[in-house]
Amino acid sequence: MFQTFDAPAAGPNAGQHAQRVKLLRTEIASRDLDAFLVPRADEHQGEYVPRSAERLRFISGFSGSAGMAAIGRRAACLFVDGRYTIQSAAEVDDSVFAIRQVPEQKLSDWLVEMLPARGKIGFDPWLHTLAEIERLTLAVAKRQLTLKAVPTNLIDRVWGKERPPVPVSPVIVQPLNYAGVSAADKLADLQKRLKDENQDAVVLTLPDSICWLFNIRGADVAHNPVTLAFTIVPAKGKAELFIAPEKITPAVAQHLAPIARTHPPKDLMIRLKALKTAGRKVRLDPETAAFAIARALGKASIMRGRDPCIEPKARKSAAEIKGARAAHLRDGAAMVRYLAWLDANAPSGRIDEIEAVRQLEACRRETDALRDISFDTISGSGPNGAIVHYRVTDATTRLLKPGELFLIDSGAQYADGTTDITRTVAIGEPTREMRQRYTAVLKGHIAVSTARFPAGTRGVELDAMARRALWDLGLDYDHGTGHGVGSYLSVHEGPASISKRGMVALEPGMILSNEPGYYKAKAYGIRIENLVLVESAKVPPGGERAMLSFETLTLAPYDRRLIDVDALTADERRWIDTYHARVLAEIIPQITDTATRAWLKVATAAL
Ligand code: ZN
Ligand code: ZN
Repeated sequence: MFQTFDAPAAGPNAGQHAQRVKLLRTEIASRDLDAFLVPRADEHQGEYVPRSAERLRFISGFSGSAGMAAIGRRAACLFVDGRYTIQSAAEVDDSVFAIRQVPEQKLSDWLVEMLPARGKIGFDPWLHTLAEIERLTLAVAKRQLTLKAVPTNLIDRVWGKERPPVPVSPVIVQPLNYAGVSAADKLADLQKRLKDENQDAVVLTLPDSICWLFNIRGADVAHNPVTLAFTIVPAKGKAELFIAPEKITPAVAQHLAPIARTHPPKDLMIRLKALKTAGRKVRLDPETAAFAIARALGKASIMRGRDPCIEPKARKSAAEIKGARAAHLRDGAAMVRYLAWLDANAPSGRIDEIEAVRQLEACRRETDALRDISFDTISGSGPNGAIVHYRVTDATTRLLKPGELFLIDSGAQYADGTTDITRTVAIGEPTREMRQRYTAVLKGHIAVSTARFPAGTRGVELDAMARRALWDLGLDYDHGTGHGVGSYLSVHEGPASISKRGMVALEPGMILSNEPGYYKAKAYGIRIENLVLVESAKVPPGGERAMLSFETLTLAPYDRRLIDVDALTADERRWIDTYHARVLAEIIPQITDTATRAWLKVATAAL
């Protein structure tokens, strides 16, 4: 299994985190500090981190994907966002940590309130970005608090030999027939941009940017096929890749030889200092690069600018688009086999949420192409479906019961593409209210799928389309409608999104999710998610502007039993029927089992 179901440590382990915090406080005091910061981040600021970087979890027990702890000599506080208030309360010992919710409550306010004037706040310069440290420095200045970079991570000292080793999984080459553009061409483009902007070099720190640029992948982090490395690309000459030599196989060495020199990670600091001494102008992204890198380059050398790989990576190449279609065709067949199994077995009331996850992974493994899942499957029956980032464990799992809804949000990593799909399924007979709300969510999902919009439109402008039918009922949902998705890379990829924060224009070649939802606390959750590809649209007769639209990539039926046909417009009904006919036509050639074929025909019949 690519997923685990262990419940967060509680009970017998109670007191463990109190003991660790006590040891940390000895380290804090011995360095004459008043507090130490523990972010969830690693040196690369990725969404997922290797186990060796799960320092926040080690010290606090909190296992969420975002958060920060501040540990003072007497008080300690964990800061989490709204997704994690319930989870953090369950995982964290409240006699040790207060829990506060960002952005309403701020780390800087807590530091100002709790620390003595002129206090010193220690931090690991590799785990915080330049921008983060600059903002925090300003915010705590009013109490004359200062931030102090600590050369050794204090958590690692407490963790000692128990700390898992830093991963050194082998790198693999992403073949040109999947990447579409050679690493040499991507580097040449990047170097041209650097020259155009009078920059002598750029330092790259985001693993997915580096993997995209060099057409390589890795397995250092669960569900995210990246290798952890740093890169310096000069405007002229060969790129330099700083990566553990154990990760480079002979095939990868051969792939990299014409385009990059490889060095062990420890050489990065030497090269940064050399750039500084030579007076070079070096591009650095203050929002993603570690403070330690900025400090080594020095103020005079840094030219602030966004990571230059983010935008070209989001515009998929023709080969990546072809790969995405193939990946979705394969994944759709796995989903159909799964949904047919679910329909045959769940009404018995004997399938639980964990069994439902196991079966889905088994269906994807049958494709013989599954490299990993793209994130931990969210498998929420009844009230668990209402928890947006629900993680099923041995402690929380429950049976799928007749009369309830079941929400399953999952994805796969294939060499040719990354998938992400949510379906909500009725177990037994749904209520009128469930059908009404499912249909409202579906109407929003269709509104996005069928949207036509002028070039230059930003995601924020489409977000409301997905909510209108819910707003008509006095309802809404508290998450974005869509995120970018990588090409055999991260399932959450910038820069564009369809959300209130979506300020980036959508461009042809971008792949985004379309996932409106509705959540009734303690009762049920509904989410419907497909991935869509932005493409140029035909301008209708008399039209004047260049227009864009979406091609739906995901291929799996919606639950017809949850659709209130009377609430649909004729166009919406036609859209569902057309989509279902396409699912049938494209998926059935891949299904051999007679019962599953019969199920698919019923599931995709016209409304
Ligand atoms: Zn999803
Ligand atoms: Zn998604």
